This record gives sequence, structure tokens and C-alpha cells, in this order.
Amino acid sequence: MDHRIYNVAIIGYGGMGSYHVKLMESEPQVAVIGVYDIVEYRMDLAEASGHKTYPSLEAVLADESVDVVLIATPNDVHKEIAIKALQAGKHVICEKPVTITSSDFMDIVEVAKQENRLFSVHQNRRWDDDFRIAKEIIDKKTLGELFHLESRVQGANGIPGDWRQLKAYGGGMLLDWGVHLLDQLLLITDSQIESVAATLSYILGTEVDDGFTSYITFKDGLTALIEVGTTNYVKLPRWYIKGTEGTAVIRDWDLSGEIITRNPDVAHVEPKPIQAGQGLTKTMAPPSEESTLTLPIEKPAPAAQSFYANYISAIEGTSEPVVKNEEVHRVLVLIETIFEAAATKSVIHRSI
Ligand code: NAD
Repeated sequence: MDHRIYNVAIIGYGGMGSYHVKLMESEPQVAVIGVYDIVEYRMDLAEASGHKTYPSLEAVLADESVDVVLIATPNDVHKEIAIKALQAGKHVICEKPVTITSSDFMDIVEVAKQENRLFSVHQNRRWDDDFRIAKEIIDKKTLGELFHLESRVQGANGIPGDWRQLKAYGGGMLLDWGVHLLDQLLLITDSQIESVAATLSYILGTEVDDGFTSYITFKDGLTALIEVGTTNYVKLPRWYIKGTEGTAVIRDWDLSGEIITRNPDVAHVEPKPIQAGQGLTKTMAPPSEESTLTLPIEKPAPAAQSFYANYISAIEGTSEPVVKNEEVHRVLVLIETIFEAAATKSVIHRSI
């Protein structure tokens, strides 16, 4: 079957804008038609890579052959560009975090509705293998009933680049990496959030958070610790997941880690006391090998559709968008609540 090809113009040809070019290479239904960036040097780079460049955003929007506008600029200008592009009749893909506030996001969604164009956010980490396998382990109840999870990313290199260190551009790690981890968290359970506690860290002395720790409780009893750090010379595992029948650890994006569960075929074996420091303990002894099963972390099956394939089929009305605007809005409300909990040093009880 012949598929129509959708022409995509990239606004902001920095790290992520140029990465989208690579992503689109393997997508049969999208083609990069051109690039616009406010910095001349970035336009020179785009031209050197063989892309047509536009002299202004208005020139992009006036080009009738542009079907989709892809926004990969710093966060503070996403809203303005998105609204202009939608009003010019373009479909829009926007990088995360889509906006700095949830109400700005709703303004965009309103315009998208009025213009009958598809607006979607590139929450690409929904396609990450580590997240997909963590969700599969939880959904299949490999660990029994899930009651606690920890999801973190940690580096030792501080906040990269320039604008990410500045508040006015929507910098800081809660908006940068937090938006991915929180988006993933909210896909893991159907339960509503009951309360949120959080601290932001300012170890590097910049005006924005260089990391955060948040403790989120859900109405069904699930608790979640979500953490981002940029000052961690030794990092903790990417995922730590506890269920009533076992525990899983996924150490890194390479899927190193293991699952240990109770062996249903073996009656409980009393642990033997172990030497622990200056004392003996049975409580903290590891489970006996006979009474547990150790399973590997396996690579998940490929996703049914890529982000782009899904976006195009959603334009054509043959699929629902994987990244739904209501989900994006809920994550932004959660981010606002984390900022509030950290600023007020209190536990915020709110149904989200
Ligand atoms: P970057 O600084 O490398 O690139 C941003 C580019 O936008 C620069 O070339 C800059 O000149 C240009 N720009 C700034 N204002 C502009 C405007 N008004 N019009 C046109 N161009 C403009 O930043 P980046 O790391 O590429 O991040 C860009 C966006 O992508 C951010 O929203 C970021 O959060 C997101 N991002 C997403 C992922 C992901 O995995 N989804 C990864 C990295 C970045």
C-alpha cells in the first residue's frame, strides 16, 4: 500500500532538533523538508548537512508544503511557536517539557482543537526498553502485587549546556528529566495520586534545581520514589521494584539487573543467621536459594509503533495518539505539585 509522506519542518536545530533528523531517517512516512533556527551558525550546520533553511518562522509557516512543525527549541518558546504553527494550519510535534506550566499547555490544546490539527508531545522515553520491561514485569505480576517502586537517573556532570541552567528558559532537572520519569510513573498505575512530598537540590548553585527527590503516594497504596541527580559520582539503580512476591532491580539502560521471587514450589525455608558487623541477624539475611527463583531482565518485544508512525496514523485517524494530551497535562500538574511541596516543605495532599 502506498503511504503519503508528511513533510516536517524542524524549528530549533540544536542537539535534539538534529537528532530528530536521524530518528526520521528510518520512518517511511515522514521527511525533513527544512530547518529554521534563530542562530546563524546552527543554520549553517543544517545547510552543511544538506537541509533547506528558512529565513524566519513566518517563512516556514507560509510554506504550504510543510505538513508538520517539529519544535525542538528551549522550553520557554514552545508555546508561542506551537500556537502560531497550529493557527497556520500545521500539525505540531513539540519536545518535552511541552510548556513550563499546565495552563500554558491547555492554551495550546485549545488552539489545536479550534484548528482541528494534531498536537502531540515527544515523550520518547515511553519507548525505552528499561521502562517497557519494568512495566511488563509489573503488568504480568511477576512480583505479585506491586507496592513500591523507585525510578531514578543520576549523573555526575552537572546541568549541561546554557539555557538548562536558567529559570526563564524553563531550565532545571525537574522539568528536564523529571518530566520523563513522572510520565513513565503515571503509566504504571491506574490509581490516582494521593500525596506528594519533595525536595529540590541546588548543590551546583545555579538558579534552577540540579536534581530532586520526590515521594509520591497513590490511593491504591502504591508508593514511589522518583529521583534525578546530576552530582552523583556513584549512581543507584535505574529501577528498584517491590511486589508482594519478589523484587526486581534494573541497574541501567543496558538492562543489567535481576528479578528475585519467592519459589512457589518450595515451602518457606528459615533463613540462617549471618554475621552483620558486630552482631548476628536472621532478619537481614538474604533469602535462601532453595526458596527463591532468580530470573534475568529480558529485552522487551519491539513496540507496535514508533512515535512517528503513531503520530502519522493518529493524523490519518487510524490510531489513537500514544502520547495523549490529558496524560501530558497530568504530568505537568504533578510537576507543579512537586515544586509546591518543595517550596513549602510540606506534604501536599491532592488528588491528581
Ligand atoms: P539546544 O540548545 O541544543 O538546541 C536548541 C536550539 O533551538 C538552538 O540551536 C537554538 O539556537 C534554537 N532556538 C532557540 N530559540 C529559538 C527560536 N525562538 N526559534 C528557533 N530556534 C530557536 O537544546 P536541545 O538539547 O536540543 O533541547 C531542545 C528541546 O528538546 C528542549 O525542549 C529539550 O527539553 C528537548 N530535548 C528532548 C530530549 C528527549 O529525549 N525528548 C532530549 C534533549 C532535549
